[in-house]
Amino acid sequence: MSDRYTIIGYRVRVVYFGLVLSWVALIISAAMTAAHSRFEEQIQPGPAIGAAVALLILTLVPWRRALRRAVGDFLVLLWCLGVIGAVIYGTGGLETGASVVIVFLATVVFAALVASRSVGFVGVAAIAAYVALLLTNETVDAADAAVQIAIFVMAVALIFIGGLAVWAQIDLASQWLRSYSRREAHLAEREQELQRLYDVSRTIGVGTNLAEVLPELVGRVVSALEAKIGVVLLYRPDLEALEVMSPIWVAGQTLRAEGYLLRLDEQGIAQQVFTSGEPMVYTDMSEAHQAGDSFLLELGAHQVVAVPLRLEAHRIGVLLVVEKQSGEFVEEDVALLESLAGPSALVLNQLTRYEEAQETSQKMTELAQLKTDFVSVVSHELRTPLTSMIGSLKTLQRPELAPPDPNARELVNTAARQANRLRSLIEDLLMVSRLDNQALPIRPESLAVADFLDEIVRHVPGAEEVTSIHVAPTVDLVEADPDHLHRVISNLLDNALKYAPDSPIEMTATRNGGEVWFSVADHGMGIPYELHEHIFNSFTQVAPHHTRSAGGTGLGLSIVRGLSEAMGGRVWFQPTPGGGATFTVALPQRAASRQARAV
Ligand code: ADP
Repeated sequence: MSDRYTIIGYRVRVVYFGLVLSWVALIISAAMTAAHSRFEEQIQPGPAIGAAVALLILTLVPWRRALRRAVGDFLVLLWCLGVIGAVIYGTGGLETGASVVIVFLATVVFAALVASRSVGFVGVAAIAAYVALLLTNETVDAADAAVQIAIFVMAVALIFIGGLAVWAQIDLASQWLRSYSRREAHLAEREQELQRLYDVSRTIGVGTNLAEVLPELVGRVVSALEAKIGVVLLYRPDLEALEVMSPIWVAGQTLRAEGYLLRLDEQGIAQQVFTSGEPMVYTDMSEAHQAGDSFLLELGAHQVVAVPLRLEAHRIGVLLVVEKQSGEFVEEDVALLESLAGPSALVLNQLTRYEEAQETSQKMTELAQLKTDFVSVVSHELRTPLTSMIGSLKTLQRPELAPPDPNARELVNTAARQANRLRSLIEDLLMVSRLDNQALPIRPESLAVADFLDEIVRHVPGAEEVTSIHVAPTVDLVEADPDHLHRVISNLLDNALKYAPDSPIEMTATRNGGEVWFSVADHGMGIPYELHEHIFNSFTQVAPHHTRSAGGTGLGLSIVRGLSEAMGGRVWFQPTPGGGATFTVALPQRAASRQARAV
């Protein structure tokens, strides 16, 4: 804390002011004496030299230190008595002029300002000297002397009382100032601490992986402690060891240290800190020798502070700081490192989790790719022989080639049906894998909606008899890939025919904002509530045995969703009022003004 706001600072300033005044007074009186001695009789220089020596000694006194102790007050007392003595000696007991009164009173004021303890003695000495001067002066009569003494005593008493009041005020003010400057220093410390914590937590923004963030993080911790080396060790539960995170931060440089493990069953400071959960500080590495810490010896460490890295109740590692730039590590350094360990642990945990998540997601993507590659290769391989099998069976079904035995004919028909089913399954699988890989080309065209729906209904066997088509007058054209939209709507129609046999089917097209909504509604058994959310997932079937025997693969609706989304649309399911299923596909209408494609 600076002396500026302390009582000592104030007293020292008054003393220096007094010294300057005294030197000025001495120089003036020396000059006057020299001038006087030219015309009058020779004056002895002894007293003037004595006064100069005394003043020099007073000037050389280390007042800041002296005034902290009683010796300062004592020196002030001597100084004041010296001044009073010099005045008596100088006036020779003959004059009691105004200048004497002023010097005596000024001396008392000075004592009052500098040292409250001396003011009483100096006051008494000044009064005594003044009385002595008046009494030894024969030109003053007793009545005059009594009046002058009374006035002088009153002046001294007033100074004394005033001095005490000033002291009380100074004391109060300096107490306030002291507490303010203490608070100021405390706040400055807190601010610095917060800044450091903020600095450390901000390192998370430096990069997305540990290799980028770690040097920055450790660098900031090390420079906060004015140290040279910083190391982060993270606990690896699978290896029962602390892993030295690479790189190590050494005097502003980074040092690679891959694969360095400190096993928990080996001796060492980091291990000790991790297992005990208590911070440690070593300023003499012979202890590390005793602790058998080969890692720190290898680093050439002489002093070390180590604190555990914690995330809530879990210890996740150790933060090690080695070699202070100057001096030794002290308790404050340990406290500072402990406060920085919190945000450091958060940053490290966040990053390791992020890296793990990245790794997992990369693995998942690779796995998904592997799966779709596999499906696509296998499907392609199966398609070729299957096509020739279907061709052969078709040929066998021709009347001129069909076997004469009705049982054999039935077997050929069954084989043809199953082969066709297998082909549609393979086509579906191929489509799903292409959708997964986003490898499906989309070639949008403007389609005349009413004609397009008509064509589909005519195309799907058995649909025409049960399906009614309603196209709102506001719906004219839609821009979509004709093959994909055909597949989407015919899949929905197929399902309605398959799962709601004998039910009327309503197919509608309406306009909603910038979208065209296509709905296929039936009045069959509907879909159980618990499957509403999953119905568009691959291989979801309401009653697998039943639906599989109906020829389903569980891929139809997932293809509907994939194709709708690939065309920039969406699809959802709602129960039909009164029972049944309603599927709606919403597609953006987009370039509706273009030429319609005749279907
Ligand atoms: P699948 O090849 O089995 O038909 P989908 O993905 O097309 O596969 O349909 C998934 C399941 O949803 C079907 O197995 C069926 O149980 C149910 N489902 C689909 N459409 C309807 C519908 N219109 N009415 C009742 N259930 C349906």
